[in-house]
Amino acid sequence: MRKKIAAANWKMNLTIQEGKELVNSILNEIQSIPEGKELIFAVPFPYITEIETQLKGHQNTSVAAQNISNLKAGAYTGEVCGFMLQSIATKYVIIGHSERRMYFHETNEVTKSKVDLALEYKISPLFCCGEPLEIRESGSQNEFVYKQVEESLFHLDAENIQKVVIAYEPIWAIGTGLTASSEQAQEMHAAIRNLLSSKYGHNVAENISILYGGSVKANNAAELFAMKDVDGGLVGGASLDAHEFAAIVKAL
Ligand code: PGA
Repeated sequence: MRKKIAAANWKMNLTIQEGKELVNSILNEIQSIPEGKELIFAVPFPYITEIETQLKGHQNTSVAAQNISNLKAGAYTGEVCGFMLQSIATKYVIIGHSERRMYFHETNEVTKSKVDLALEYKISPLFCCGEPLEIRESGSQNEFVYKQVEESLFHLDAENIQKVVIAYEPIWAIGTGLTASSEQAQEMHAAIRNLLSSKYGHNVAENISILYGGSVKANNAAELFAMKDVDGGLVGGASLDAHEFAAIVKAL
């Protein structure tokens, strides 16, 4: 169901002690998350269980993994797969983040199989899409993003697509301090929702949360989240600062 979501993406940062302290400070500042909203912490694999324990009793909060193997099980040293994440009750997993596409060469086909494996093990994909700067400058960003969404998600049926949260993250805005303007974000989010609507119908498209990511900060969150088709944010850098991230959560 469509929700307002603030998701922290810690990436490869923080010790477990630092992470727990951060979560603690954030929970203290925001007190509670009302129904219809959700606070997600996407943490490194070894921290998932401890952070889940820390969130117990805090309504509408959950933990996400930052990755999932595209292989099912077996002799793949170092991989972490769907049934493992399910066995520690992981609710979400980030799939298709631009850093994974760029540094680990994940193609639309790889992200498609990750989406399938996540859903098979009852984990909701936080599916990232977004164009690099040269594509934005050439004006073909919509086609670029449509292809990512179509090739990795459009094989899903109407029931499963509604378990996916989409995050639009223009690569030129990630970690750069350059944010898409709220109008640019709204324009792309509406385009993605129209694309979903053309394939699955209006009601299904209206049920899917589409988050914005890319230099979301306390001082731009409220304006971005006020846009009709922006259902919250996937936040990297600013999620590592308790006060800053708490302000973003409050802007939901
Ligand atoms: P950023 O990262 O907020 O640091 O730009 C967002 C993301 O990569 O999810």
